[in-house]
Amino acid sequence: MNSLLAPEMKDTNLTDTRHEIAAICRQLYNKGLLAGADGNISVKCGDGTIVATPRGAHKGFIEPEQLVVTDSSGTVIEGPGEVSTEFPMHLAIYQADPECMAIVHTHAPCALALSLAGKGFDSSRLAETEILLGEVAEVPYAPPGTIELARAAAAHVRCGPVFILERHGAVSRGANLARAFQLMECLEHNAKILLMAYLLGA
Ligand SMILES: [Zn+2]
Repeated sequence: MNSLLAPEMKDTNLTDTRHEIAAICRQLYNKGLLAGADGNISVKCGDGTIVATPRGAHKGFIEPEQLVVTDSSGTVIEGPGEVSTEFPMHLAIYQADPECMAIVHTHAPCALALSLAGKGFDSSRLAETEILLGEVAEVPYAPPGTIELARAAAAHVRCGPVFILERHGAVSRGANLARAFQLMECLEHNAKILLMAYLLGA
């Protein structure tokens, strides 16, 4: 490869990733999966750097330039803001699952409502959901932003690509951001179906 081209190629990929994350943030916001500054999204690049939403940013209006870039240890190397308070959880998940290249964390309301009601998310009630999501485990409560939450979340990667954080929200991951988004969308859509079924007495 012509080394003179390498920096430009790297920038182009980074630009694409920034735009993709911003677009997914808007989708998550428009679908009601998060409100205001809730949640966080990150994508791991091939060189080990991570592009992530910054602390406190409103996801419905986030611009690609607001995203931060960190090295593989989580130190910010580019970007105007600080990294999300939940970023230790992202780092722990990337470390626990080397195949994971993207993480979506939301406060998905229906999935969270099931958790608060003590019902969890029983994917076996819906045939195709079980195939797509597998077991949806619930990570026991730990305060947001703590290393305890990061460790607890990382310990659950063996359960499946999606899990619920007790009294907090949900996390999905995948080999790319589109996959992680699809899993989160599927979780909340089916959580809504389960919630309606339970309200009807199922
Ligand atoms: Zn959260």
